[in-house]
Amino acid sequence: MLIETAQGLYCPDGDFHVDPWAPVARAVITHAHGDHARPGSSSYLCADRCAPLLRRRFGSEAIIESTPYGQGLTIGSTRVSFHPAGHILGSAQIRIEGAQGVWVISGDYKRAPDPTCEPFEPVRCDTFITESTFGLPIYRWDPADVVIADMLSWWDANRERGLTSIVFCYTIGKAQRLLDELARVADRPVLVHGMMVPMIEVYRSAGVRMLDTHTVIDRPRGTSLAGELVLAPPSARGTPWMRRLGDLSDALTSGLMRVRGVRRQRAYDRGFVISDHADWPALLDTITATGAGRIVATHGHAEPLARFLREQGLESRVMRTAWEDEGGADDYE
Ligand SMILES: [Zn+2]
Ligand SMILES: [Zn+2]
Repeated sequence: MLIETAQGLYCPDGDFHVDPWAPVARAVITHAHGDHARPGSSSYLCADRCAPLLRRRFGSEAIIESTPYGQGLTIGSTRVSFHPAGHILGSAQIRIEGAQGVWVISGDYKRAPDPTCEPFEPVRCDTFITESTFGLPIYRWDPADVVIADMLSWWDANRERGLTSIVFCYTIGKAQRLLDELARVADRPVLVHGMMVPMIEVYRSAGVRMLDTHTVIDRPRGTSLAGELVLAPPSARGTPWMRRLGDLSDALTSGLMRVRGVRRQRAYDRGFVISDHADWPALLDTITATGAGRIVATHGHAEPLARFLREQGLESRVMRTAWEDEGGADDYE
């Protein structure tokens, strides 16, 4: 049903690619992150709630079609539908039914509750292509409200010491999830890096309730930011923009922060383990829930997951992506 090509996964029966990493005629997209949705394709198809994010990334000229979750479309000799993946706003698993049975491509997903997006929905299939970003037994997440409570007390402690708190987080998904979760326990505005504004706006238009945000740049020069919480993409770390923040304490939010060595090596004051990916138990539960006899693991720790599944008697292999050699584009989700 799906074959690996130089542009990524291709479905000959429907003549479309799934999350291609090079321009193609028809791209079917799981979600709006940069390693799944690349610019330059002639047309895009995604879930309805994903479309505004793609539109913001690709501009007004791009041809973007969308469809509601669960509604099947006939493409060539296949039936294609999108099902919630619980990863970020509009994220979807793609179900393809055709002569070779039912295939589901998970895209990125998580099972933990996230108020900014629709919860993951298990879909029965014959072949399940699962992400495996955190496919090792060491990766297990605490509930998000526990992590958020921790973040709030860190912010309060920094306020008392006259420090600015800066949290580095992914621009699409993680930032909005933090702003939504924080709105449940705090009522203060948060400062953000200018790069975060467009996607925060898309989430607000989609009805996601978040803390008020202002940009750091809009604060008059010389204003002290002591006691404020600032969200910024990891790429802003160490740039001249940081000088505006004054004395600060910094943190990274990522599943990677589960690993002490990574925390130390990257030299953040704090690591908050909050991820938009499935942890190890969630990967295994999900694979079981699909009922699939054949599992293809992709992204991150694919080999250990595939090996574990083979030991359990499942047919399982690894599929590499174009991102594998770049140190993982999913680092900060
Ligand atoms: Zn993603
Ligand atoms: Zn990804």
